[in-house]
Amino acid sequence: MIHLKTLIDTLVKDKYLAILADLTLPDASGTQVVEKIDKFDTPTVVFSGSIDKDLINKVLDYNVMDFVVKDNPSSSDYAIRLIKFIVLNKKSSLLVVDDSKVSRMFLNSSLQRLGLKILEAEDGIEALKIIEKDKSVKLVLTDKQMPNMDGIEFVNKARMKYGLNELAIIGVASKSDDDDIILEFLKSGANDFVSKSTSSEEIFSRVVTNIELLDYIKIAKDSSTIDYLTKLHNRRYLYDIGDKLFANARRKHLELSVCMIDIDYFKKINDRYSHEAGDMALVEMSKVLKATLRESDVITRYGGEEFCIILNGLTLENSINIMEKLRKNISEIAIVINNKTIKFTVSIGISSNLSRSLEDMINRADKALYKAKESGRDKVVSL
Ligand code: GH3
Ligand code: MG
Ligand code: MG
Repeated sequence: MIHLKTLIDTLVKDKYLAILADLTLPDASGTQVVEKIDKFDTPTVVFSGSIDKDLINKVLDYNVMDFVVKDNPSSSDYAIRLIKFIVLNKKSSLLVVDDSKVSRMFLNSSLQRLGLKILEAEDGIEALKIIEKDKSVKLVLTDKQMPNMDGIEFVNKARMKYGLNELAIIGVASKSDDDDIILEFLKSGANDFVSKSTSSEEIFSRVVTNIELLDYIKIAKDSSTIDYLTKLHNRRYLYDIGDKLFANARRKHLELSVCMIDIDYFKKINDRYSHEAGDMALVEMSKVLKATLRESDVITRYGGEEFCIILNGLTLENSINIMEKLRKNISEIAIVINNKTIKFTVSIGISSNLSRSLEDMINRADKALYKAKESGRDKVVSL
């Protein structure tokens, strides 16, 4: 257990993403801990054995996301869930859609503690414009009865563009709504439903749960398209996105190049220095790929020590220049392991022939790569 003084010193020195704090420290009790850490504006979850309602309410008046009572084995799981939520949602925002200002204020105040940016819209039309413009919106709470475009029409329209796993929508009903409103919302594609008479606590929990679900789905999706070692996208992603880019380039008569990159004599690095050294080379090379290429380029680990890049909108000449620069940057990587420095080179094959298919471009780039290997390695060859 650390002292409050040590905690404050730590917070002064470094910026933290979140704080999980107990209230009773050797030099603090009551609300003293939250009083002191409030100033740092760091999302905080209080995890305490106290069940004193007065104290809980006082603590929640500070900049605290939640008060988790340590009273059963799963309470620590809940506290950790909230911390994960904070870390994964630093840049997410919520949208509250309601024509009544009072209702918007109620929902807004129930959700303030989440620490997310909260946007507001007065009807479905305004809401659609906001989600189109601001990609940070992860969850929408929408009223049903609104002028111009009601909540049901909004959900229907939003679902044409954003799937259930991309954007969470919670329908909100007021007393004047029909009994079958829940069904109407859910059938139009809302993820969940709350009533305006629901407590702030329940609204808070439902929002957390729905956003968490999106986070978990994204993590699962990423793990099927991201390579665990290099954190680059994998071959599956290359074909998914590559086919779309290829079709788009063909339709709009744009330029596109496919580049295959293969490390020269990689087997020797593994054999001479260890498999770990080989892994380090792959990781360092991936960093150089990211640093040298643009956000709009598709960088993938094709397999083993082979990488496939799609350069979007570049002529063959420009693509060759970029690959030459990449070849040079990779040759400057120096990995130090057991006082030995490992250096390596790559061979690169390029194709910018859009006459057939993406697969054909990959095959041509592979043939060019083979030529680069045959003619001495550490080279860029185009076909
Ligand atoms: P060349 O110049 O002709 O490309 O020769 P090379 O040695 O690079 O090619 P080869 O295909 O013979 O060897 C590739 C090696 O890459 C074999 C395999 O053990 C190693 N390899 C594949 N994936 C990984 C990995 O994830 N980590 C490590 N350390 N090695 C890997
Ligand atoms: Mg209304
Ligand atoms: Mg190789």
